[in-house]
Amino acid sequence: MKVLIVGSGGREHAIAYSAAKSDKVDKIYCLPGNAGIAEYAQCEPIGAMEFEKIVVFAKEKEVDLVIVGMDDPLVGGLVDCLEEAGIRTFGPNKAAAILEGSKAFSKDLMKKYHIPTAAYENFTDPEKALAYLETAKMPIVLKADGLALGKGVLICNTLEEAKEGVKTIMEDKKFGDAGNEMVIEEFMTGREVSVLSFVDGKAIKTMTSAQDHKRAGDGDTGLNTGGMGTFSPSPFYTKEVDEFCQKHIYQATVDAMRAEGRPFKGIIFFGLMLTEDGPKVLEYNARFGDPEAQVVLPRMKNDLIEVAEACIDGTLDQVDLQFEDNAAVCVVLASEGYPVSYQKGLPISGLEKFKDADGYYCFHAGTKFDGDQIVTSGGRVLGITAKGKDLKEARANAYAATEWVQFDNKYMRHDIGKAIDEA
Ligand code: ATP
Repeated sequence: MKVLIVGSGGREHAIAYSAAKSDKVDKIYCLPGNAGIAEYAQCEPIGAMEFEKIVVFAKEKEVDLVIVGMDDPLVGGLVDCLEEAGIRTFGPNKAAAILEGSKAFSKDLMKKYHIPTAAYENFTDPEKALAYLETAKMPIVLKADGLALGKGVLICNTLEEAKEGVKTIMEDKKFGDAGNEMVIEEFMTGREVSVLSFVDGKAIKTMTSAQDHKRAGDGDTGLNTGGMGTFSPSPFYTKEVDEFCQKHIYQATVDAMRAEGRPFKGIIFFGLMLTEDGPKVLEYNARFGDPEAQVVLPRMKNDLIEVAEACIDGTLDQVDLQFEDNAAVCVVLASEGYPVSYQKGLPISGLEKFKDADGYYCFHAGTKFDGDQIVTSGGRVLGITAKGKDLKEARANAYAATEWVQFDNKYMRHDIGKAIDEA
């Protein structure tokens, strides 16, 4: 069959890698893709938000299955456009992708269906938000309602900071229309864990756990980024935690979406905080995490395409989802200066070392071809993933492999997976 992947990052490279392993797949296309994805897929320069062009392309190439990796096209309704044209697509439609697209929606959903999450209030009027803050306990968390590239969350330690935050989000509109509505939420403390899951509208099967590192600098300092590294599984995601979440969070979310007339098919990413009062939902995403996919998919034993088709067909309950009994760590190689400003077009060498290295992966995020040479084309450039029998071995392997590739201004965190030592 012919598969089309929409997106261009390390996550889509991990998806393309998994799709290429499937016996069912003869041909892969990726829009727009990158230099690494091009190893498995024919990449064409059509952007993920060019819905009409994507539909025309999929029809022209007689694509059998589309996988949408990114949040913006999902929330914008790409799946609806493809399905209307009769093209099978893995991913939530617009009505369901609101689970990620509106934080106010997801908070109200959790409240209505008693899914554990931080206490909160939603606001559309900045005056009311400011009045609410006067009596609120600090620190407090402000969240722009819509998609804001992971930057629409402000953690405020003082009332002054919080008031400034309301202005930034709702009046200055720093995150555009994403700030038309805002969630003000109780600050929680604890360890964060990500759990990805496959969902077919009714049933849910969770994948192995992971943990990411959002800040740019070692010791969780510096600005928030798209993610500087991940490890899987999380040693803090115990059997007890899993049992609690299976009982109170995962199926409850799927049932809630169905009850709301918004059946969810695709990937639900649960961002969890393991608080003293038990696990609580921090956020939902409607797609694979990036770079969570880069540590979870290489450990998955199942054929990704088969599982994706089961989600579309509503037969996920028949799938026995299995993961290898090992660990994986991904270290992101960025361009110095990311996430603010950085150079592009720098030649990358050493990529061939990954070709025959079993258990090592070099997932491309911001790369492109300049003639025959692969060069950097984004802030996050590569995700170096390695497996090991346990997390410590995987971490040592991943860091060793970060030395195999070179480009000017190569930057990485040196403490990805440090939390492992505290487990
Ligand atoms: P993403 O890029 O993952 O989509 P996002 O913009 O959707 O991010 P959240 O995941 O909701 O935002 O929050 C980003 C980060 O802010 C969380 O990973 C967590 O570290 C912190 N955070 C969010 N809500 C809270 C809270 N209630 N208490 C403490 N920290 C929080």
